Amino acid sequence: MQIIHAKQALTPTGWQSDVEVTLDAGGRIAGLGPQLRAPTSRVALLLPAPLNLHSHAFQRAMAGLTEARGPDPKDSFWSWRRLMYKFLDQLSPDQVEAIAALVFMEMLEAGYGAVAEFHYLHHDVGGVPYRNLAEMSERIVSAALTSGIGLTLLPVHYQFGGCDLRPLNGGQQRFGNDPDRFMRLHTDAVGAVALGAGDYATGVAPHSLRAVNPEGLADILGQAGSGPVHMHLAEQVAEVDEVFSHLGARPTEWLLDNYAVDDRWCLIHCTQMTEAETAALAKTGAVAGLCPLTESNLGDGIFNGTTYMGQGGALGVGSDSNVHISLFEELKTLEYSQRLRDLSRAALATKDRSTGRVLFDAAAKGGAQAGGRDSGRIEVGLWADLVGLDDDNQWLCNRQGDAALDSLIFGGGGKSCVRDVWSAGRHVVKEGRHSRRDAIVSNFKTVMRQLETNI
Ligand code: ZN
Repeated sequence: MQIIHAKQALTPTGWQSDVEVTLDAGGRIAGLGPQLRAPTSRVALLLPAPLNLHSHAFQRAMAGLTEARGPDPKDSFWSWRRLMYKFLDQLSPDQVEAIAALVFMEMLEAGYGAVAEFHYLHHDVGGVPYRNLAEMSERIVSAALTSGIGLTLLPVHYQFGGCDLRPLNGGQQRFGNDPDRFMRLHTDAVGAVALGAGDYATGVAPHSLRAVNPEGLADILGQAGSGPVHMHLAEQVAEVDEVFSHLGARPTEWLLDNYAVDDRWCLIHCTQMTEAETAALAKTGAVAGLCPLTESNLGDGIFNGTTYMGQGGALGVGSDSNVHISLFEELKTLEYSQRLRDLSRAALATKDRSTGRVLFDAAAKGGAQAGGRDSGRIEVGLWADLVGLDDDNQWLCNRQGDAALDSLIFGGGGKSCVRDVWSAGRHVVKEGRHSRRDAIVSNFKTVMRQLETNI
């Protein structure tokens, strides 16, 4: 049994001082209150560790390599797309596992407790299935076990190269399945996850309205159980135009008209929605899965957070392309995008909660919902996904309550204040450092030296 003493803890009833949180041997929170035994850990600030709701782990290996322009100045995706396909001609299961272990470790060190991995790299080069159809899913589970992160695996159904149903070509073939083979792969992936840790879960992810047709979407949703459903939606203007020309409606409009979207759903990006779509999505109870650092990096656009949260919409954050892993910078970037667009300050704050508090509460709640995970609050019975922060530094030394969260997110410090992280009770980050950091980084560096990155 572990006992954590926190000078301040953010509980469902607000900030509490001198809290002792007891974790049971199964990884759940067993008690909140004074204990006779001495604490096994002491932290200044204890927060629920949010779930990172959107990641493509293998793309971490591309970070920083796709910032150059190609021959056509209008084609700003040139370097990103070229390198992505170059990687897809090379990546082996061993390499994917090593990259995923690194990115999962970095997420934990950044204060995330779990991840929803939107996993679409299923097959060998050329689209040839591995003898074990769920080989790559098993590698993601192995990487999660190595890092100790909580996992919701989202096997992705990806069938077409666009709304015109053109076949996949090049590197995309590694993603592809028809609905029948996808469902076999999904069943095997569910089996692999069941052999992982007790807190691991599975959902399903139709990639987007471009990569899946309406029949395929209906097919897999009918068969894929009751876990979370994630889908990319309304990320770029070209995507909205393509969906409109084939389905006769904008992506968000079409989805809400044709499906009973509810709190089981998580729609990723939503950076290209009208005011009416934003308000309509907010009312469904679905989570908007925002990835502000990747959306900034790719120039996707600005999510309408003020309207959406004003209508009570649920949201969470993810790191998507994993260009940079920082929970606190994701939250800051979301808020700053609203301020820059509206020429405002404290755009997402409410009367009774500061901006940092609103953002953190939303990410903790929305992340847990999107991952189908019993977490997101420091509450008896939930998984002990917790982040402990140090206040012996220039950022937090005299900060209390909401001001501490605001200082973490806006005042700097952020990740460098993260001292301890528990994922379902697994105490994987101590003194700001992951327990397996050296081995995981060493494996990753070996893979980086193997990969051809010259585009
Ligand atoms: Zn994505």
